[in-house]
Amino acid sequence: MHDFQYKNGELCCEDVPVRTIAQRVGTPFYVYSATTLASHFRAFDRAFGGVPHLICFAVKSNPSSALLHLLGKEGSGADIVSGGELFRALRAGIDPKKIVYAGVGKRRDEIEYALKMDILMFNVESGEELQAIDRAAGDMRTRARVALRINPNIDAKTHPYISTGLKQNKFGIAIEQALEYYQMAKGLPHVDVVGIHQHIGSQITEVQPFVDALVKTTAFVKELRAAKINIQYINIGGGLGITYKDETPPLPQELAASVRPILADCGCTIVMEPGRAIVGNAGILVTSVLYHKEAEQKKFLIVDAGMNDLIRPSLYEAYHDIRPVVQQPAAETAVADVVGPICESGDFLAKDREMPMVKQGELLAVMGAGAYGYSMSSNYNSRPRVPEILVRGGEYFVIHERETYNDLVKGEKLPRWLD
Ligand SMILES: *Cc1c(COP(=O)(O)O)cnc(C)c1O
Repeated sequence: MHDFQYKNGELCCEDVPVRTIAQRVGTPFYVYSATTLASHFRAFDRAFGGVPHLICFAVKSNPSSALLHLLGKEGSGADIVSGGELFRALRAGIDPKKIVYAGVGKRRDEIEYALKMDILMFNVESGEELQAIDRAAGDMRTRARVALRINPNIDAKTHPYISTGLKQNKFGIAIEQALEYYQMAKGLPHVDVVGIHQHIGSQITEVQPFVDALVKTTAFVKELRAAKINIQYINIGGGLGITYKDETPPLPQELAASVRPILADCGCTIVMEPGRAIVGNAGILVTSVLYHKEAEQKKFLIVDAGMNDLIRPSLYEAYHDIRPVVQQPAAETAVADVVGPICESGDFLAKDREMPMVKQGELLAVMGAGAYGYSMSSNYNSRPRVPEILVRGGEYFVIHERETYNDLVKGEKLPRWLD
């Protein structure tokens, strides 16, 4: 379900041929579909229609200002994990009353910023953090709304680096200890306990881990009520997967249909924090073929995008479909590695991939790159970050310029003794 389709043999984003954009801005670049983005947000919003709910887009998946503006206009809140993300969300016009703040390492200045802006709640991940928030709120003569992030010890059956709800993960508070921490929170003078939070992992392609986790969490909410701790928000986190290859993840309405009965009599507002499921398939990375290279046992397709532009293949062994932007029915196919220009053996976009051997200068589209693509990109090898383009209908707009060489050295200074 996305708006990247071939029309007359050319890959288009909505009604704009990707090649047209490439001719204007050069390669590599990211391009997003506004229509896909909005329709994915609405799918979540509709899925929980009829019950009090709040969809908080996970800003870390793609913090682009234009995208946040678009989602904010659709009614989205924000799930943030840093002061920088809070700044971005507010700047995009997202109502602070729709902002929730997670992360194991919130600094004092970040906590103060969030308190000053009066965000909806902190999702607290440890006892010491709880105390730090209480102290900061006290010093500022205000009160902090908090939820505790519970680790329900559920295997989300995803890559170990993006699994977060297991005992050995650094996130959340073990469900067995959680009552103790809730009681501690209740006793703090500047904290209002309002919710419970969980986020068990990312790229989850089955409903069952969500169901298992929520059965545990809702049972625990009953325990909390018995202890006179009144939970008003149940935050079920993000993590719904997308199709990169042949996965068949549940649709938002299927996920909602499975979890709504579990949440039916809780009397709570349901909060969700989707990132990847909203923006992942709403964006692609476009790159040009620089060279072909044939080693004894391997073919390489060397392209102008590298792991600094899209690190997911290197970091998570993630699969991204790679397609020619202009269909090449006559091109012969071969098995090749698609690699970037970075001086690392781990710099690849695809390994042992059967694909058409497109010519030098031809464009390739790396599909499903909208989430954790640009947001994880870096300047490694002193490569300027690539531009981001937003398409709506037949129009495209550069929402983020390509960095220049001068941007690379911005803020760098020499000590006087080197002058
Ligand atoms: C990363 C993250 C999300 C979003 O995860 P997706 O897999 O992109 O949906 C939601 N909540 C929290 C707390 C996160 O850290």
